[in-house]
Amino acid sequence: MQCYDQLMGYDGVDNVLVLSLINKVGRNSSFQFSVKHILSGMEDYFLESAYIFKEQEWGPVTPQSIAHEILHLYGAWDLYGGQVSEEADRFAKENYPYEIMLQVRDPLKDLDISPLTAWLIGLSPEVKDWFWLFKRLPQHFVGNENVAVPPSSLPKPSPPSPRN
Ligand SMILES: [Zn+2]
Repeated sequence: MQCYDQLMGYDGVDNVLVLSLINKVGRNSSFQFSVKHILSGMEDYFLESAYIFKEQEWGPVTPQSIAHEILHLYGAWDLYGGQVSEEADRFAKENYPYEIMLQVRDPLKDLDISPLTAWLIGLSPEVKDWFWLFKRLPQHFVGNENVAVPPSSLPKPSPPSPRN
C-alpha cells in the first residue's frame, strides 16, 4: 500500500499495474479490474496485476504470452473458446486468426490486434456491431481470472481473410 501510494503521488500517474515475474513453472494469469468486479461484486479494486512464470506446463514463456497478459491489464479480453461463446470463438478464428488475445502460438511479429481489442484498450473509438458477440459472462471465466490458454489447444488458423 505504501508503494502504491508513493507511485500514485507522481505527477500524471492515475493507475498502477503490478507485473510479477516468477522464476518457477506455473500458469500465467492476469487479474484485471473488470473480471474481479463482475465476479466478486467489488466496488473498489485498485490494484491490477499479472503473473508471468518463467515456464508454463507446456513450455517456456514467450514474448507474445507476456504481451497477452499485459494487454489484459489495459482492458483486453480473451477471445478464444472457453472464455467466450462458441459463436464468438468461431468469429474470431475466421476473421482475426492472428489476434494476440485469440492465440499466442505464432511469433509476436506475426500477431496483431483486432478492432475489438483496439477499442477495449483505447486505441480506437470505433465500435462495431460484432463486438457484442464477445460480451463477457461469468461462465466464460476460468476460475476468477484470465488464465493463459495452452498454445497446443488451439487449432491452426486459416489464412487471414479481409478485415474490417
Ligand atoms: Zn488471456
